[in-house]
Amino acid sequence: MNAEGREVLPRALSHLLPYAGKVVLLAAAYFAAVKLALIAAIPPGYATAVWPPSGIALAAVLLFGNRVWPGVWLGAALVNLTVKSSLTAALLMGTGNTLEALAGAALMRRYLGVPCNFARGEDVIEFVAIAALSSAIAASVAAAPLALIHSLPSQALLSNWWTWWQGDVMGIVIVAPLILSWSVRGETRWPWWKIAEGACLAGPMLATTYAIFSDGSAERLPSLQLSFAILPFVIWAALRFPQREVATVNALVCAIAVWFTLEGRGPFASAPLNASLLLLLAFMSTVVTTGLVLSAVVGERARAIEALRRALQNLKEETIRDPLTGLYNRRFLGDYLSRELIRAKREGGRVALIMIDLDRFKQINDTAGHAAGDLVLMEIATLLKRHIRGSDIACRYGGEEFTLVLPNATPESALRKAEAICSAIREDRDRLLEVTASLGVALFPDHAADAESSLRAADEALYEAKRKGRNRVKIFADAAAKPAATRVAGVKYARS
Ligand code: GH3
Ligand code: MG
Ligand code: MG
Repeated sequence: MNAEGREVLPRALSHLLPYAGKVVLLAAAYFAAVKLALIAAIPPGYATAVWPPSGIALAAVLLFGNRVWPGVWLGAALVNLTVKSSLTAALLMGTGNTLEALAGAALMRRYLGVPCNFARGEDVIEFVAIAALSSAIAASVAAAPLALIHSLPSQALLSNWWTWWQGDVMGIVIVAPLILSWSVRGETRWPWWKIAEGACLAGPMLATTYAIFSDGSAERLPSLQLSFAILPFVIWAALRFPQREVATVNALVCAIAVWFTLEGRGPFASAPLNASLLLLLAFMSTVVTTGLVLSAVVGERARAIEALRRALQNLKEETIRDPLTGLYNRRFLGDYLSRELIRAKREGGRVALIMIDLDRFKQINDTAGHAAGDLVLMEIATLLKRHIRGSDIACRYGGEEFTLVLPNATPESALRKAEAICSAIREDRDRLLEVTASLGVALFPDHAADAESSLRAADEALYEAKRKGRNRVKIFADAAAKPAATRVAGVKYARS
């Protein structure tokens, strides 16, 4: 063997081994589950109310892919050989159970997706229908030919088919969700009160189920109505816990019910065997579908509420944000400023306002186009976001005017910030279009006594900056030295 050959073989083996390991593990699990199920089966016909191997096979094919089918086939065929079956019977059973798992998995992937977390109540109903359909395959492929081989009368054939089918259906609907939900990585750790609630649910639920089903003897059995006492626990679990815990509650309740009913105890044992199996079937399907459907609907409702909350949050954001720049809009500025001024008044602090207006912006629009003008506005917004800290906010006041609110500022710090922004806009050489800005600064309570007059004071300082030749910063105090200039509608800033 050449060097390449030496390398290729171990790699091939290492690929093969995990696969072979999965197949052997699945065959062993299937084998063990059948042995366990047979302990609880009633001879001579080996009637079983639940056939967990079917659920194991379906979950394994869903989790590991169709490739692991030999595991199901081997497990089923081998276990049948060990229970005095003929080779034909063993081969037929292996084939029937394998086809059941492959068909069930194909239908689940097609209609529910993987991992099988029931997102809607309807998903559970579809899952039960898929279990019923795929179980009919196993019952028909294995039970019917066997009955023919052993020339059983048609009545026995029918009851064999029925027992097989209902056992497989229950095995799938109880065990597959259990395995599938536990194989998904759990969510965040539960807080202590959730663990306490889990204990409050599990303890009384197990005690009640045990008390009802272990009660009685051949002479006196508990009444059927008692079995309804278990439903409130299932509903509790579905309303308050995730699907994994609901599947676990279902499996525990069904296991206790099956165990004691087949032992001849509990409310369902009073009827003849077939009727008692039918009662058990009705009970288990009620418990399982109630739990899973309710849990799916509760999850669906929680997701819908969350989506609605997020949509409302987005809507709220949209009403306070400017769509072009993402900055807060004028409406938010008004609310925020009023709140900040009340706080500043209470704490004896200051709030600075910086009003920014781009110089000769109309020319940019006229020469480079409106879209280019929009790009400049977006760049200015990015620049402003870079210049604000902590509780400062930046708003688009309208058009090409922006406002910054700086709580806890001093005249010096506000002027420093305004100067920094002014030169950052002037010196930003990366931009396609060159633009400058004029800035006006005003402080509460130094220059104004309320939100409206603070904005007016900053605007007047801005007007002064424009009047002095643009591309500069002015603080209201400077402006106040001269008669305050007021904007006249239509003729805003003097053209220099
Ligand atoms: P100055 O402020 O220096 O006096 O001159 P200006 O040209 O900037 O003054 P003016 O306020 O008259 O013009 C502002 C222009 O801003 C007018 C308008 O076309 C433009 N503008 C307003 N909103 C938008 C916008 O959302 N996108 C674009 N591209 N332009 C806008
Ligand atoms: Mg302008
Ligand atoms: Mg303007």
